[in-house]
Amino acid sequence: MIYLDNAATTRMASEVLEAMLPYFTTEYGNPGAVYAMGSGGKKAVNEARRKIAAVIGAGQEEIYFTSGGSESDNWAIKGAAESLCERGRHIITTKIEHYAVLRTCKYLEKKGYEVTYLDVDREGLVRIRDLEAAVRKDTILISVMSANNEVGTIQPIGEIGKLAREKGILFHTDAVQTFGQIPVNVEELGVDMLSASAHKLNGPKGVGMLYLRKGVKLAAFLHGGTQERGRRAGTENVPGIVGFGVAAERASGRLEEKEPREKELRDYLIRRIESEIPDCRLNGHRTKRLPGNVNFSFGAVEGEALLILLDRKGICASSGSACTSRESAPSHVLLAMGLDEEQANGSIRLTLSGDNTREEMDVTVQQLKQIVEYLREIKRS
Ligand SMILES: *Cc1c(COP(=O)(O)O)cnc(C)c1O
Repeated sequence: MIYLDNAATTRMASEVLEAMLPYFTTEYGNPGAVYAMGSGGKKAVNEARRKIAAVIGAGQEEIYFTSGGSESDNWAIKGAAESLCERGRHIITTKIEHYAVLRTCKYLEKKGYEVTYLDVDREGLVRIRDLEAAVRKDTILISVMSANNEVGTIQPIGEIGKLAREKGILFHTDAVQTFGQIPVNVEELGVDMLSASAHKLNGPKGVGMLYLRKGVKLAAFLHGGTQERGRRAGTENVPGIVGFGVAAERASGRLEEKEPREKELRDYLIRRIESEIPDCRLNGHRTKRLPGNVNFSFGAVEGEALLILLDRKGICASSGSACTSRESAPSHVLLAMGLDEEQANGSIRLTLSGDNTREEMDVTVQQLKQIVEYLREIKRS
């Protein structure tokens, strides 16, 4: 099997699982308890908080654990809307966000908020001048993803952060695809809130975090106990949080070695597809691109059919986001980038990890070539 869907989720690293196991078996005490077994869990949670904060240059008191990227996005946007509604009710985001952001914004529109969805260019980049033009007196939040999960385009987050700060507007970024994948520093980028998720970096599913800059007021998300400094109630997912901490530390420790290796493999795959399969188009920016992302549209090919036939050959790929693949509508990201429906439907995404090999790329190109030819042939006849 060749697994090329690492933007959807990743295999949990063995050291992550090992670190988690004691918190399922012997160290099961409630972190809120006074006895030693409970405080062991509490210590482990804070240790994970420290590790995760270190990855993005934050203070550990600025990290809040959640159930994943979707919850962090929901909390950042709904929380900001609730906390700042006296100041204004206008939010700026983009057309290519993950649904965790887009549908939260749609929900807020029903509650009386106004949302501007910025266009992107042909390569999926937000234009700063569009953002600048969209800012109003009553704008309370800008939410722009760090990198897109479908096409891999990396946004100019630092520039957006600078603009947001000049205008005094809160800035949130969904960094689920960049955290642990490329260097991310909240001070350099000027972000106030940042979402990340453990299962995208070889950690467990169902745990994530929201970075919240010290001093930023954000309405609590879950009401109940005083966990997460009273802002996110509920007994902590101790094993998950421990796993997230180890995964984050592991990813950032390997970054320097992994990023160039992955990029090289990515560019090798792109080069071979472009030179060996006619009528194809690389989606997303060629260089401002996540190290593991490859996304192509093939003319006169149905992406879904391509995926099914690749699966029969043991190759796991996807057509954009995992959440989109069951809804058969063409990708909202590709449409926003100006592709027509046919081009959008003829696209597939291959996302690599540090574990993939050149041999796997060779097999993938070989299979892809044959399947694309086959699908075009039956379409013609
Ligand atoms: C995967 C993903 C999410 C959702 O994260 P979960 O932890 O699965 O809820 C949000 N945003 C982006 C960009 C993602 O890739």
